[in-house]
Amino acid sequence: MDGFQVNFTEAMCLGASLALSGICYYVYRKSQTTVDELNNAPHFIIDGTLRDVLKVTPQAYLQYAVIEGVVKPEGEPLKSDFHKEISGVLQKFVLREHRLVWNSFLRRWTDDERVLHERVNATPFLLVGSDETEVKVLRPLQASGMHMEVIHEKFHQVNYGFTDLVGQFLSGQKPKGQLEIEEILKVGTTLTGVGELILNTDGTLILQPPSNGSEYFLSIADFDTLQGEKQNEAVCWKTLAVAFALAGAAVLVWVGLRHYRRLQVRWEQEKERREFERLQAEAPRLPAPADPGAGNDNHTENVCVICLSQPRDCILLNCGHVCCCYTCYQALPQRKCPICRQEISRVVPIYHT
Ligand SMILES: [Zn+2]
Ligand SMILES: [Zn+2]
Repeated sequence: MDGFQVNFTEAMCLGASLALSGICYYVYRKSQTTVDELNNAPHFIIDGTLRDVLKVTPQAYLQYAVIEGVVKPEGEPLKSDFHKEISGVLQKFVLREHRLVWNSFLRRWTDDERVLHERVNATPFLLVGSDETEVKVLRPLQASGMHMEVIHEKFHQVNYGFTDLVGQFLSGQKPKGQLEIEEILKVGTTLTGVGELILNTDGTLILQPPSNGSEYFLSIADFDTLQGEKQNEAVCWKTLAVAFALAGAAVLVWVGLRHYRRLQVRWEQEKERREFERLQAEAPRLPAPADPGAGNDNHTENVCVICLSQPRDCILLNCGHVCCCYTCYQALPQRKCPICRQEISRVVPIYHT
């Protein structure tokens, strides 16, 4: 009996789905950990009592806390490049080229984009509470969450002449245009921050990325929205992990079914062979048929039409043809008579009389 056989495509599908399921599960676990940490993080209002709370905590720090305050620059704020009246503390400018690239595999033009230029500026800033208590925000560029808003978005279309078209045809690239985007964290925005909260020896309050590796958040959305987004993200990754695991299981079931069908055929053959041997044993004992290799005149009539060496020893039913030996009958690729192509329903041994 040969073992469980998996072909190359099945092995690839199985491996890919299990690997993807594993990756999705890993990301899901990470997201879920963040969701749990967000759920357990204490919320504080920025006011004088925050200092008192931190004074009584060990080492004057809270590993993961949620605060909400209004953005205020420590020094001069940054000015927007496109709207001079807007000032902020974080600014990001991206120039992106949109183009069509000839895909020789798909035989068509496909959309493509690349960043031509990216610039991020930051100035130190604080989160201010209701009674002017300030919390200094450190390393804001390491934070996740939507904390900047798009204040400028413009697409510059490219116009081209005949020579450009020829050049595009030869190079396989058609520029569509350039998109410039400016994002800014405006002064005066209410910002939710989730991170490590520290009271320095000089009395300054600081929010910074958690030293234990938990995710640092700054968001212009409120805490519930942030929490909801992370929760949805975790559910998405979990669904993907389950879907890929099911795909892997489907491949295994498919391979298992095929293996089972093969075993069934073998069991049938085995049963048939035992039945054939039983009938052969019950047959009246008669002199053995002439040796097929002895140059007998009946030689070609008696010899199996397939192997041309063994004597014909079985009758194929229902057609009744006597044309092959039992070994060759079992090796037939289909259960069809080699002479008349009729379906073989049963096979019985020949009784020499
Ligand atoms: Zn044969
Ligand atoms: Zn036949």
